[in-house]
Amino acid sequence: MQDLWDRALDDLRGRLSPESFETWLEPVRYGGLEDDVMILRIPNKFFADWIQSHYLAPMLDAMREQAGTEPIPRTVKWEVDETLRDHVRAVRASEPPKPRRAPSARAARAVRAEPSATLGDGPSSPPPPPDLKPQYTFDSFVVGPSNQLAHAASVAAAAEPGTRFNPLFIYGGAGLGKTHLVNAIGHTLRQRDPNVRIRYVSAEQFTNEFISALQNNAMNEFHQRYRNECDALLMDDVQFLATRVQTQEAFFHTFNALYHLDTQIVVTSDVFPSQIDGLEERLVSRFQSGMVADVQAPELDTRVAILQKKAELEGLDLPADVALFIAEQVRTNVRDLEGMLLRITMKADLLGRPLDLDLARDSLHVVSPTQDTATTVEDVQRAVAAYFSLRVSDLKSGKRQRTVTFPRQLAMYLARQRVGSSYPELGERFGGKDHTTVMSACRKISKLVERGDEKTVDALRAVELKLGL
Ligand code: ADP
Ligand code: MG
Repeated sequence: MQDLWDRALDDLRGRLSPESFETWLEPVRYGGLEDDVMILRIPNKFFADWIQSHYLAPMLDAMREQAGTEPIPRTVKWEVDETLRDHVRAVRASEPPKPRRAPSARAARAVRAEPSATLGDGPSSPPPPPDLKPQYTFDSFVVGPSNQLAHAASVAAAAEPGTRFNPLFIYGGAGLGKTHLVNAIGHTLRQRDPNVRIRYVSAEQFTNEFISALQNNAMNEFHQRYRNECDALLMDDVQFLATRVQTQEAFFHTFNALYHLDTQIVVTSDVFPSQIDGLEERLVSRFQSGMVADVQAPELDTRVAILQKKAELEGLDLPADVALFIAEQVRTNVRDLEGMLLRITMKADLLGRPLDLDLARDSLHVVSPTQDTATTVEDVQRAVAAYFSLRVSDLKSGKRQRTVTFPRQLAMYLARQRVGSSYPELGERFGGKDHTTVMSACRKISKLVERGDEKTVDALRAVELKLGL
């Protein structure tokens, strides 16, 4: 297994950026195998969080690829090993500073590190879905105006499953707490009844299981698993089903079967049900028949509270002024917020410096030089218009030619990313458009970015340069 780990690591080295690899995977050590759980030793707890959310899937993918017929571990257990800390420090301290990079280039690389959908070419039997994430509980969830409704609905659905809030549909942008809430519902149900059978899957995993059941003539077991042996179905990122007609069909029947049994169903998505392109009408109306709640980007106070909560959970001493400073700078989403706290903490650790405002200022400047010069929506509009040789008024107009719609969508996306404005606010700033127009623009561009579409990536890079990194 050590050998398999080494090979997978080598493979990953080629797939991730050197920066990511050195920072996050190089310090990790193989620590043995317990049943089918692989132990990995890490310098501190943050590594577990970070690797889990960013690199675990590519890591398991790499192992699967390297393994051939060898069995691979089902999942990973983390063990903090203080001695590795010194190793990290030694490596990092002797390194020259990293050159700055355009965020779009970073984004594109990060996307490449994501696991590829294993449709069809995947293993014939996918690994069982991961269990609930232990740290995602209601206790660790900070409630603010931006997520109050989704939180209240989740608490209610967990308290009285299968009744008033069934199905529960939670939607909102990336990194805003949807997965966290779904897990918290699962934990609550399990606390009440340890034997409750919770099916917690991403729509992607559901799709893979469905395909594998088809390939292996195992539809009965598949139905059994999802319809008969299921007391609560928690499905994350249902937008993945968008164009998958057959899987949607399977999901529809599963949904109905469970719904008629008053089994609680919770679904998350990045957009409102009717905004999921290619989702069948009958599924849309099923989702909309229940409770639909959104999560928005948190306001400043909530961002501060989230940082403090996170620090408390990690046993960090986070001064109030540092928390406020980070919260002011990072406005996009909670994942970025946590990422920044993590980087600053790591840096304090590596350099042996106190976690103070000076350090936070330095780190933010180096890591994300864009974040501390306040870009406005107008800046973005001007830069995008200039790049495409248009007028700002064109971007705000209702013109429908592709020469205008694409730049407009791009500008909306960038304004959302860099300024962090809400969808309705952006609609307003773009000549009074509906917030759903902005939402679908942002989705469209982020899909293009994910796909590495050249025209989009080039435009983003050029505009970002113009905006000043
Ligand atoms: P999503 O599924 O919406 O993309 P996640 O649920 O994965 O987002 O959240 C991203 C990260 O932010 C997770 O680590 C999660 O614990 C954290 N997070 C999001 N919202 C909150 C919140 N309100 N309170 C505390 N942590 C949060
Ligand atoms: Mg999620």
